[in-house]
Amino acid sequence: MSESSLTSEALILEAVARIDSETPRLDAELLLSHVTGWSRTSLRAWPERELTAAQLAQFHTLLARRIDGEPIAHLLGTQDFWSLTLAVTPDTLIPRPDTECLVEVALALPLPPNARVLDLGTGTGAIALALASERPPWQVSACDAVADAVALARRNAEQLSLPLRVVSSHWFDDLLPQRFDLIVSNPPYIAADDHHLSQGDVRFEPATALVSGADGLNDLRQIVAQAPDWLDDQGWLVVEHGYDQADAVQALFRQAGFVAVASRKDYGGQDRLTLGQFTR
Ligand code: GLN
Repeated sequence: MSESSLTSEALILEAVARIDSETPRLDAELLLSHVTGWSRTSLRAWPERELTAAQLAQFHTLLARRIDGEPIAHLLGTQDFWSLTLAVTPDTLIPRPDTECLVEVALALPLPPNARVLDLGTGTGAIALALASERPPWQVSACDAVADAVALARRNAEQLSLPLRVVSSHWFDDLLPQRFDLIVSNPPYIAADDHHLSQGDVRFEPATALVSGADGLNDLRQIVAQAPDWLDDQGWLVVEHGYDQADAVQALFRQAGFVAVASRKDYGGQDRLTLGQFTR
């Protein structure tokens, strides 16, 4: 390898040529920044800086894994979500920017100052922690059926010094009887035969966090049907779903007795969320 190929910019260009992703330059900068501790801004300001041999070896190891398709979040061990940097492992879904829309919608609801909130299937804890960070008086709880996810969400809460109660439960099945003012969830909602499951990051994420039966709605059916038993009068349910599931999910909400049922779009302009209020 020639001397010049040790500069950060030469390495970025080498990586961009080899990474098959929608964001090769960003991916390369994130990996190089991770290895060197240099910010992405400083990589651009000082493109001629050279890596040490150890940094170079680590960069090439991560680059090879990225070329094999491993998600950037798994290689860095973190993913930014809302204003937070969350630890991420292969045990849970990687938080998506579109899920920040769910946080925005939840924060805009008319809720009591000390709202009791539940995040069902919290994974990294992303939604619950974003809500806890914005509304310190809220009492935010979260559950997950996967023990490693419960542990990860607790670890993220601790690292961010945010109050979050995380319990082990498959949806509502193992919760103690109680009522909430707001229930949120980004459940699995992809159909088992969806061809997207063989493309991109999802290949490295657990199927339990992604796939929900033949039509992708198995978990949403259970969550929406059972939520009224766990909501206080005037309580809200907000769920994320697939871009083509808004009509089906709205029908589930109405069948379960919700009012003010509406859907909201994600940042790409696709229907992505449905919400409703339960009045007793
Ligand atoms: N939005 C994710 C995707 O399409 C899926 C998230 C989910 O199933 N909850 O990759």
